[in-house]
Amino acid sequence: MLFFDPLYLLILAPGILLALWAQWRVSSAFSQASRIPARSGASGAEAAVHLLSVAGVDRVGIEPTHGYLSDHYDPSDKVLRLSPDVYRGRSLAALGVAAHEAGHAIQDAQRYAPLVLRNIMVPVAAFGSQAAWLIIMLGFALTFGRVLPPDIGRWVVYTGIGLFAAVVVFQVVNLPVEFDASRRARIALQEAGLVTPDEDQVVGKVLNAAALTYVAATLTAILTLAYYLLRATALGGRDES
Ligand SMILES: [Zn+2]
Repeated sequence: MLFFDPLYLLILAPGILLALWAQWRVSSAFSQASRIPARSGASGAEAAVHLLSVAGVDRVGIEPTHGYLSDHYDPSDKVLRLSPDVYRGRSLAALGVAAHEAGHAIQDAQRYAPLVLRNIMVPVAAFGSQAAWLIIMLGFALTFGRVLPPDIGRWVVYTGIGLFAAVVVFQVVNLPVEFDASRRARIALQEAGLVTPDEDQVVGKVLNAAALTYVAATLTAILTLAYYLLRATALGGRDES
């Protein structure tokens, strides 16, 4: 019954719509900014090297990786991996994305609290995003199929929901990490003279659109949690058993 549930789509609609809109804005802002060469002439990789050294962060490698917008900072390997367009690109889009990822490396080096918390939560959030819905479904199926007594079934469902709540908390903690990386990126690019104040407006559009995708993901997770809780009420309260 949880599979094609119209209520699920209805509750999630705002999150899905915002996610689609954010995705569209990222690709359009990125492709627009990709066509504008930075006046400083720096490439994404050069900008990242410079920003890391200004921040006093050594021991962080920078390497090219495959894929479109696959840029990320890997805190376990201490490596910044930049997509081909960003690594070699000399556009405002390339500088913005490279600086944002450098921002994550700087957060890591400075033990920025939300990032530390985020990294601690990675294993449980990764497990939760894979397993939570399965545990919840199993709980419902076994309860409605009368395999489990309602009390035990409820316990299984709420265990799954609790696990999913950890995913939601992870997404919420991730928001300040992302906003801060973009804020650092824009300030550092201008201070280093890699981007002028008017070029910063273009960089801002790309990074704000990217931040919106994280807001959409968080909203979708919160709405999913609300849906699970609403459906869990079908299992009844304690007085029923
Ligand atoms: Zn980021």
